[in-house]
Amino acid sequence: MKEYDVIIMGSGPAGLTAAIYAGRALLKTLVIEGQPSGGQLMSTTEVENFPGFAKGILGPHLIQEMTLQARRFDVEFLGQNVDEVDFKSRPFTVTAGDRSYAAKTVIVATGSSAKWIGLPSEKKLLGRGVSGCATCDGFFFKDKRVAVVGGGDTAVEEALFLSRYAKTVTIIHRRNRLRASRIMQSRAFANGKINVMWNEVVEEILGDNKVTGVILRNVETDQRTVIGCDGVFVAIGYEPNTKMLRGQLALDVKGYVVAEEGSRTSVDGVFVAGDVHDFTYRQAITAAGDGCRAALDAIAYLDDQKSKDVGGKARF
Ligand code: NAP
Repeated sequence: MKEYDVIIMGSGPAGLTAAIYAGRALLKTLVIEGQPSGGQLMSTTEVENFPGFAKGILGPHLIQEMTLQARRFDVEFLGQNVDEVDFKSRPFTVTAGDRSYAAKTVIVATGSSAKWIGLPSEKKLLGRGVSGCATCDGFFFKDKRVAVVGGGDTAVEEALFLSRYAKTVTIIHRRNRLRASRIMQSRAFANGKINVMWNEVVEEILGDNKVTGVILRNVETDQRTVIGCDGVFVAIGYEPNTKMLRGQLALDVKGYVVAEEGSRTSVDGVFVAGDVHDFTYRQAITAAGDGCRAALDAIAYLDDQKSKDVGGKARF
C-alpha cells in the first residue's frame, strides 16, 4: 500500500490550501479530490469577496489556480471519492474505489452538499425542471418563469444569475426576512425580474414529465396558492459530507465533524478544515484559512512524532 505523510480528503479551497502548505513543507501529499472535484466553488459564478482579485474571479478559475499552485509542490491528485476510512489503526487507511492508501496524518476537508426539500415530486422532477444549480441549468430557462426556494446568499445568487435568462424569477422564502447579506438583498430588490413570496413553503412541485408549477402553503395563514413556473431551483443550504466518517470521528448531531482545539479532531493525527466542520462562516476564504491551519497542525504533529521516535530510539 502506498504511504503518504498527509492524505487530504477534498479539493475545495480548504483541501487545496492544505495541499499547498503540506506540499511546500515537502510532505508526501495526496489529495483525494471527491467527485465532482473542486467543491461548491465549481458551481459558482463570480467570486467577489476572495481577497486578491480586485475584479472578482470565477469560482472554477479560482479552484483551477489553487490546484496548479498545489501541483507546483509535487502534490499528487486522485479524482475519486473516499469510500471508507480506518482511523483506528496506524498508519491510517483511506480507501477510494478498489485501492487503499496509508497515511501518517489525514486532513478531512470534504465540505458539504446542497440540501433538498425532501418532496417525492422534487425527486421525480429532478432534471426535468427541478435543479440545485443555476449556473449549470439556468441556460435552459431562457424566457421562462422560474422559482428559487430559500432565503440565503445562495438563493439570491441563484436568482440573480437566473434573471439573466428567465422571464421572471420568484424567490420563495419561508420567513418574512431574507438571510442573505445586505449587498445581495439590495441587488435582488433592484432587479426588475425578481420578486419574493414571503412566509411560503413548497408543499408540492407540479408536473408529470416536466415542472409546470408549485403548490405553496403560507406558514402564517395556512392558505394554499398555486403558481405556474417552468423551473424550481432549490437553494436551502447544505449538509456535511461525512457519511464515510461515521464511527471513525466524533460528529455532532447534524453530522458535522467536531473540532476540538484548532483543527484537531477526536483522533490524534486527523485534522479538519472547511465546511465539513464550519457551519457558521462557510466562506471560500475562511475554508482556505482553515486549510492552512490544518496543514500547519499536521506538520507540527509529524514533527512531534519524529522527535518522539528519535527520542525513543536514543533510549535503547
Ligand atoms: P443558508 O445561509 O443556510 O440559507 C439557507 C436558506 O434556506 C435560509 O434562508 C433558510 O431559511 C432556507 N431553508 C433552509 N431549509 C429550508 C427548508 N427545508 N425549506 C425551505 N427553506 C429552507 O445557506 P446558503 O444560502 O446556501 O449559504 C451558505 C453559506 O454560504 C452562507 O454563509 C453564505 O453567506 C455563504 N454564501 C456566500 C455567497 C456570497 O458571498 N456571494 C454566496 C453563496 C453562499 P431561514 O432563513 O428561515 O433559516
